[in-house]
Amino acid sequence: MTKTFENAGAIGYAELLEKIKGANIMEYGLKREPLSDKIYAACAKEGDVYVHAGLNNADVDGALLALLKDDADAVLSGIAVAGMLVGAAAKFLYLPEREKELTEEIRPKAEEYKIVVVNDIINVRESEGDLLLHLATAKDLADLVDGTFAAGHYVVLPGEAPKKVAPDTKVTDLVPQDGVKAYYLGYQYYTPEEAASLTAADATNGVIRALTEKDCIVTETAKLLLKDREASCGRCVFCREGLIQLEYMQKEITQARGKASFADLTTEIGEAMGYNTLCTVGQVSADIALSAMKKFGDEYDAHIKKNKCPAGVCTSFVHIYIDPQTCTGCGDCLDVCPADAIEGKAKFIHMIDEFECTKCGKCIEACEEGAIMQTAGKLPKLPSRLTKVGKFKKH
Ligand code: SF4
Ligand code: SF4
Ligand code: SF4
Repeated sequence: MTKTFENAGAIGYAELLEKIKGANIMEYGLKREPLSDKIYAACAKEGDVYVHAGLNNADVDGALLALLKDDADAVLSGIAVAGMLVGAAAKFLYLPEREKELTEEIRPKAEEYKIVVVNDIINVRESEGDLLLHLATAKDLADLVDGTFAAGHYVVLPGEAPKKVAPDTKVTDLVPQDGVKAYYLGYQYYTPEEAASLTAADATNGVIRALTEKDCIVTETAKLLLKDREASCGRCVFCREGLIQLEYMQKEITQARGKASFADLTTEIGEAMGYNTLCTVGQVSADIALSAMKKFGDEYDAHIKKNKCPAGVCTSFVHIYIDPQTCTGCGDCLDVCPADAIEGKAKFIHMIDEFECTKCGKCIEACEEGAIMQTAGKLPKLPSRLTKVGKFKKH
C-alpha cells in the first residue's frame, strides 16, 4: 500500500475536491464528465454508495489494463481515495473474464485497499447512483494526490505502451497516413477524410488503429463483434441476439455466402441495439457494424456482389491451383499438404482439390518450380484428371 491514501487523508476532503476541480480531471472513456461532478452526485445518493472501477464494459481491447499492470498501487490507491471521498460502503474492481491471471495477481494487493476484485462487467442498472470510475481516472486521482498528475488523454498506439498526449492532438499526427484506408477509434470506423478532424480525445478507450489496403474491414468487424459477444452478459435480448446476428452476417460475407439483404438487416438490428440495450457493450457493437457497413459499403459490395475480397484476406475468395505447364510432377507439394488435398504421382501433373484445400499455403512454399499459384480472380483451364507432364493441352 502506497502513501497515496494517507496523503489524501492529510489533504482533507474539501481541499482534495477543490484540487480535483482545479485540475479539471475528467472521467476517462465513453462517459466523459468532470470527476468532481461524479463525486458530488455519488455523495447525494440515498443509502449505501459503492465505487465500481474498471474499463468501460465495451472495451474489448483492454489496452489500458497496462496502467494497472504497470502500477497497480497507483490505480488501486486512486480507487481507494475515490471511495473515501464518497464514503463508499464497498469498492469493486471489475476485470474482464479473460483476465483471470491478472485478477489473481492483483487480488492480494487489492485486499490491502479493501477493494474486491471480480471478473465481470459492471451491472449498470444495479449500480445506478454509485460512483463508476474508469481505471485511467483512478490513476489520475492518485497522481493528483501524489503531486505527479499531468493533464492529457491516454492513447495506446500499435506496439506502444499507454502515453498521455494533449486531448486536441490530431489523430492523423499520431498515426501515419500513408496507405491508410480507414481509422478505427472510439468504437467506430472513419474514412481518412473524417479522421482529419478527429483528435486524441475521440479515442475513448485509447486505441487508435489504422487499416491499410491489406486489412479487410469485414474480417476486422467480425473479430470485434466476436469479442463483444464474449463480453456480453446476455441480460438484454437485443444485445444477446443482435450480436449473434451481426457476427453471423460478417462471417457469412467473409466466407463468400453474403447476401444483398445483409446491409438492411445490419442497419435494422444495429439501430435497435443502440436504443434497446442497457450498457455500452450493446450500444458500441452496433456502432462498429453500422459504421463499417455505411462507410465502407464498397468493400461489402465487393464481397457480396463481386465475389472478391479487395484486401485478399478472405481465403474463400482465393483459389490455389497448380500451373499444368510448370509442374514437373516431383511430388514435393503432396508430401507437405496437411489436408491431403493434392492428387498426383511421379511425372504426372499434380492437382489440388479445392474442396479439401484449407489455403494454408504450405505447398506454395514447398514447390521449387513456382508452379503453385494463388489468385483472387478466375481459374485458368486445368486438367480434370491425372495427366502426364508435358501432355496437357491448354486449348
Ligand atoms: S448491453 Fe445488456 S446484455 Fe449487453 S452486456 Fe450490457 S447489460 Fe449485458
Ligand atoms: S506443383 Fe510443384 S511441388 Fe507439386 S509436383 Fe508440381 S512441381 Fe512438384
Ligand atoms: S494450400 Fe495447404 S491445404 Fe491447400 S493444397 Fe496447398 S498445402 Fe494443401
